[in-house]
Amino acid sequence: MLPVVALVGRPNVGKSTIFNALTRSRDALVADMPGVTRDRHYGVCRLGPRPFVVVDTGGLSGSDEGIEGLTALQVRAAIAEANLLVFVVDARDGVLPLDAAILNELRRSGKPVIVVVNKTDGVDETLALGEFASFGIAETLPMSAAHNRGIDTLVAKSLPYL
Ligand code: GDP
Ligand code: MG
Repeated sequence: MLPVVALVGRPNVGKSTIFNALTRSRDALVADMPGVTRDRHYGVCRLGPRPFVVVDTGGLSGSDEGIEGLTALQVRAAIAEANLLVFVVDARDGVLPLDAAILNELRRSGKPVIVVVNKTDGVDETLALGEFASFGIAETLPMSAAHNRGIDTLVAKSLPYL
């Protein structure tokens, strides 16, 4: 079985954009896998020397729960199946309370966490990274997924955990 990397984070931070960039290769498999719900998207990243499965935890819909409940469910599901948790945040929004709540859940899992500060295009990258330094996660990478910047670095930083 291939190792699994889960993309987690608030809605609209760019998880699906990162998912698409990671799994864009011609033979990427984006399909339902046995025993999984349709609420999460699975693909294979083949950008590095070893392939791994990528899970996009967005996409739950039709729930009566608010954003926070919804996000918590997604985070728990991702934690359960992942070898590595990639926590995506938005450089433009800075640290929001929901980010801190998600990070707490991730930390409690004991699994490795990489922070991706997305949407660094058009912002001061050093300032943006500085704000998220308060998370205390050693691996914190800038990214502009919409411009395909930072994707290869994320792959390289992920491989040692997989
Ligand atoms: P998700 O809800 O976390 O899956 O976020 P999406 O991938 O759907 O992206 C939400 C919005 O942010 C979309 O309009 C994307 O085009 C935009 N977006 C994603 N990545 C970037 C980025 O690197 N820079 C900018 N400026 N916008 C981005
Ligand atoms: Mg999405």
